[in-house]
Amino acid sequence: MKIVNAEERVHILDSQSNVWSVIREIAYTNNQEEAFYVCDIGDIVRKHKMWKARLPRVEPYYAVKCNDSLTVLEVLSTLGTGFDCASKAEINKVLSMNVRPDRIIFANPAKPASHIRHAASVGVSRMTFDNETELHKVKKLYPNAEMVIRIRSDAVDAQAQLGMKFGCNPITEAPELLRIARSLGINVIGVSFHVGSGCREPEAFQRAISAARDVFDYASTLGYQFHLLDLGGGYPGGHGTSIDKIAEIINSSLDEYFPDPSIEVIAEPGRFYVCSAYTLACNIHSIRNVIETDPETGNTTNAHTMYYINDGVYGSFNCILYDHQVIVPMPLKDYAGSKYQPSSIWGPTCDGLDQVVENVLLPDMKVGDWIVFEDMGAYTLPVASPFNGFPIPKVHIVAEENIWMLLQDLLPLSDDHFEMLKVPAKKMREESFSDFTLPHFPIRIEIPAND
Ligand code: PLP
Repeated sequence: MKIVNAEERVHILDSQSNVWSVIREIAYTNNQEEAFYVCDIGDIVRKHKMWKARLPRVEPYYAVKCNDSLTVLEVLSTLGTGFDCASKAEINKVLSMNVRPDRIIFANPAKPASHIRHAASVGVSRMTFDNETELHKVKKLYPNAEMVIRIRSDAVDAQAQLGMKFGCNPITEAPELLRIARSLGINVIGVSFHVGSGCREPEAFQRAISAARDVFDYASTLGYQFHLLDLGGGYPGGHGTSIDKIAEIINSSLDEYFPDPSIEVIAEPGRFYVCSAYTLACNIHSIRNVIETDPETGNTTNAHTMYYINDGVYGSFNCILYDHQVIVPMPLKDYAGSKYQPSSIWGPTCDGLDQVVENVLLPDMKVGDWIVFEDMGAYTLPVASPFNGFPIPKVHIVAEENIWMLLQDLLPLSDDHFEMLKVPAKKMREESFSDFTLPHFPIRIEIPAND
């Protein structure tokens, strides 16, 4: 049984409540001052349902790096996704959810030796590579590994490009790497790529799948029989985004280039699953009015208002620096009738770099008022630091009642996780989610205590 801390408790939403009403409730009670998140588990469940409907041939392996919250991982493992891990610690975290090692891909093409040894010791056999050094390491440390060659195929437009760091050229490099792998007796089983995170060019998937086909074909001339195609990440997940076009292109490209249904197709979505599930509320603790004086009349005006809030780029908003996230502030209160004025929003640290929004029209807000930020679930919390002594916001987890009914008997959570315990209604659960195939819990893997 896991230790339950306050942050893992799930608050059940009644039919009158939603994420915004919960934010209001928390913000306006108990002298709340610290910034906080509300995470809606239902949003993650709905995303999974959407993935299954749009991409029936593609098994999602959630990219743990994107948001490694225990609750997110438990919900996803319950829904039956696999996991993309980048390190030994991520592998351990996922294995501790009772996920079988064959549901994990160690998708980091450049792995420290100790992490490869660890993968071997716990039986996580699928790993990616894009260079010769990695092949020699694997030959020595994990000769039975099932390797997946990562090729480079970049989207023209993506929120965060990855190709400059990972992925071998499918034409000029992949053939030689495969020949080396063959000569070393390494078992290569397929091809992976990542078109770029937050892909804004759906056609990139067609190009990448076509390039993967060529690598499959070349590999077969060496005697390999590839059977795994890994479509990587890149799927958007914020409010107002959709994976429909990407899914359409993936499905038609799979039909064209990989019609053989025995080819296992997986993907490594991160952002898609968690981005919109997390909403952040920050409190204004200071305000500075920038006054301008007319040199001719001497009249002064408030030219710009600077709002200082209690989370910034060293905390959740690191996503501005590392993930090129565009931040949209939404005042919590209704400021009907207020004049909107040029404003900026700043984080709490003493660093001038700590700016959340550079220039935006905002109503006349006061110290103690709240600003809400949606779509804060991806690449935020795992990177955040308490620099200057400002704490990382707590997460309040919520779920609608029917989602809770679906999950409460399935999640490996004790009753202590739930704020409002209700009588389980299995029947309603089955009716609400009859279109899901729910997995049984696999056998537990014991993680060595010192890892
Ligand atoms: N797979 C790998 C190897 C990655 O490096 C990343 C992100 O950096 C992902 C998957 C997840 O990408 P996304 O969040 O765009 O789906």
